[in-house]
Amino acid sequence: MAEKSAIEWTDATWNIVTGCSLVSPACTNCYAMRLAGTRMKGHASRRGLTREVNGKHVWTGEVRVNWEWIELPFQWARARKIFVAAHGDLFHAALSMSEIATIFAVMVAAHHLRGHVFQVLTKRAERMREVLSDPDFWAQVNAEAGAHVLERTDALARRRDDARATLGEYGADNPPPGIWLGVTVEDPQRADERIPELLATSAAFRFVSCEPLLGAIPWKRWLPTARPAKRPDGTPFLAPLFYMTKCEHCGWVGSGELCGTDSWGDDSDIFCPSCHQSIRGDELPSLDLVIAGGESGPGARSTPIALFRSLRDQCAAAGVAFDFKQWGEWIDADQFLALVAPERVAAGPLTFVGATKLGVDCLAACEHHSDGSSSLRVGKRRAGRLLDGREHNGLREVGR
Ligand code: SF4
Repeated sequence: MAEKSAIEWTDATWNIVTGCSLVSPACTNCYAMRLAGTRMKGHASRRGLTREVNGKHVWTGEVRVNWEWIELPFQWARARKIFVAAHGDLFHAALSMSEIATIFAVMVAAHHLRGHVFQVLTKRAERMREVLSDPDFWAQVNAEAGAHVLERTDALARRRDDARATLGEYGADNPPPGIWLGVTVEDPQRADERIPELLATSAAFRFVSCEPLLGAIPWKRWLPTARPAKRPDGTPFLAPLFYMTKCEHCGWVGSGELCGTDSWGDDSDIFCPSCHQSIRGDELPSLDLVIAGGESGPGARSTPIALFRSLRDQCAAAGVAFDFKQWGEWIDADQFLALVAPERVAAGPLTFVGATKLGVDCLAACEHHSDGSSSLRVGKRRAGRLLDGREHNGLREVGR
């Protein structure tokens, strides 16, 4: 169990659930599966979770709740961001609603008592929405979280009815603070499937993780649009022009900009781009954060730089925080050359022969994309996390 995490966007991992099964292309090189079959295979939390098939370690489908770690968040005194079930999926069908509620209750109580922020990332967005819409789920969460808080609050505070001893009643209409919900989105199909489910789930904070980013996603649909404006006191802000909206006829979800109207006044007619009926255009919540990155580890796939740039620029236009986590194993060839030999890039275009001289075997480590860009396999450490020469630290910004 890692208190400190090597994952760049969190402070600690809480592997309360281990074991999983592949669900979409982003899972192909699942790091958790490889680890469970190699370095961690003798550990009680991973034993028997994988089997060897043609020299590869694959999940057996067994999912384990590591109950011996259920109290860990209470033992971590300093407030931190905690990634929940980094080596599994909290909303896997093998977990009962009651088990998930018990884990949620610890998150609710540990946020209340310790100030931790829990990051829950899933590829099973539909199950997440179903579970978090169920009143029975919240009844159990509230009861168990209340018991945790009472148990850890001293008698004097209880007599004084200290704020520490009281906890809100949470539910689908009143999500608990301190729990972020996110979905992995790697391509257009997964965006279509998972983002509407995330937006339909009650949450204090919603994020999308595009890691690895494997296909061009029409981000314009999934992000509201905004324009720079100034408040009366002169401070700048992004004024929303088009909100996220849902068609009450066919269930289409997306940015209002695509609904074929330029006005959100009461009298305006807006039409669903899917069923073409006139819709009310009720406002949906938007995403709070998008995290993007390339893949690392054996078999890592490369991502054309245009996919990252498009996402970054549309997040900026929408006023949504953007975090570029890492390039991963592969980096855009031009970005790498600018990184290691900026003086040579300034002198004129570099060829791949130039890259070879810089220590990269381009024949073995170059991939050309259909848009004309190329990626070099230089390893995660050398590739770093600069996109067009700068860091994008949306995660730290929202953390503040
Ligand atoms: S959902 Fe996550 S843990 Fe499960 S197989 Fe996919 S990548 Fe691995």
